[in-house]
This record gives sequence, C-alpha cells and structure tokens, in this order.
Amino acid sequence: MPIYEYRCQSCGGVSSFFVRSIGVDLEPACQHCQSNEMQRRMSSFALGKTAASVHQNSPSGQSAAGTDYYRDPRNIGRNVEESFSRHGVELPQSVRETIDAARDGQVPKGIDI
Ligand SMILES: [Zn+2]
Repeated sequence: MPIYEYRCQSCGGVSSFFVRSIGVDLEPACQHCQSNEMQRRMSSFALGKTAASVHQNSPSGQSAAGTDYYRDPRNIGRNVEESFSRHGVELPQSVRETIDAARDGQVPKGIDI
C-alpha cells in the first residue's frame, strides 16, 4: 500500500497518508495543525514499493500478456491500423511502410515500440 507523505506549509510538520490505490485524489490535512496547504513529498518507503506493487496489482498478469503481445511482430502497429480504420481513414503510405518495416524487425527511428 503506497504511503504519501506531505509536508505542511504552515507548520512544517510531515504527515503520512496511506492510500488504497494509486491515482486517488487525496486532500490531505496537516495532522498537526489541520492546514490544507500540504506539499507532496516522495516517501522512500513508497518509492521502494511502488514498482513491485504496481506489477503485482495488475489484474491477472495483464502486463506479462502485454509483453508477449508485442513480441509477436504481426501485432506491431495493429492498434494504429485499428484506430485508423475505426475512423474510416485509410492508413497513410508512410505509416503503412513504417509498420511493415517494424514487422520485418526493423525498429523505426523515433518510434518506441
Ligand atoms: Zn501543519
């Protein structure tokens, strides 16, 4: 469970908040003076835990499946093709060539697969 630490701008005290899930909007109040002027600090504990817990919490090993998905070269650029066809737009020739090249194992410059 991640811990967010906030430093109070009014009294300088540090308050720690457990959050049930990442991305929840927290409206922290100082645990010392109840001020709402809180500045987020990075907790070393939370930092150490984050990567591992995010991985474990991904539903039914989704991230592993995602990795395999992109190992199959036929799937490279598939989402691009789909988003074009969803909008009823034909794939531009340059995009078509980039995807085809990527499927042949050539990683296109400037594109992170
Ligand atoms: Zn305070």
